[in-house]
Amino acid sequence: MKLLKERILKDGHVIGEGILKVDSFLTHQVDYELMQEIGKCFAKHYETYGITKVVTIEASGIVPAIYTAQALNVPMIFAKKAKNITMNEGVLTAEVFSFTKQVKSTVSIASKFLNADDVVLVVDDFLAHGQAAKGLLDIIGQTGAKVAGVGIVIEKSFQDGRSLLENLGVPVTSLARIKAFENGKVIFGEADI
Ligand code: 5GP
Repeated sequence: MKLLKERILKDGHVIGEGILKVDSFLTHQVDYELMQEIGKCFAKHYETYGITKVVTIEASGIVPAIYTAQALNVPMIFAKKAKNITMNEGVLTAEVFSFTKQVKSTVSIASKFLNADDVVLVVDDFLAHGQAAKGLLDIIGQTGAKVAGVGIVIEKSFQDGRSLLENLGVPVTSLARIKAFENGKVIFGEADI
């Protein structure tokens, strides 16, 4: 996605440990016009898959996921990281290890929002080692729903997330694929769409 790559080059900052900071348009302040284009791009790619739900994980996945859900005209569900007193019935959980935060957390989705008839598109802001997406696949798997694919805004293809997900039989579609950071600069590889 040309628009996204241009924005990463303009406003992304490479910080230590292979991390890209994109807080001026994606992970903190949000450019809703760019997010809307991202949503349309995922929706177009997955329009023939019969998607019934878009699933993501809080917090930064929510924005691209909601615009994707809007473009597909289906509900969006985000997995919660903190236990909530109002989630008192049928909760499905998975363990997720975050390399960026170096913590393990339990993520959850209320079982009433997913069922075996659903065809799910998982959306997230970044793909690094694939742990967040794997946790979501784990939860969705518990419901018997089908996963059509994982849509990623920014993939760091020098990390092993894609192979983890593809080995689980789930196709990955990334809008921008970063093959390396060289001297603080982003080097792109071929994106999927
Ligand atoms: P994974 O589970 O694939 O290792 O990491 C995915 C999650 O970690 C994403 O949901 C994102 O929140 C965070 N993350 C991983 N790499 C980066 C990065 O380079 N920049 C930012 N801002 N977040 C990242």
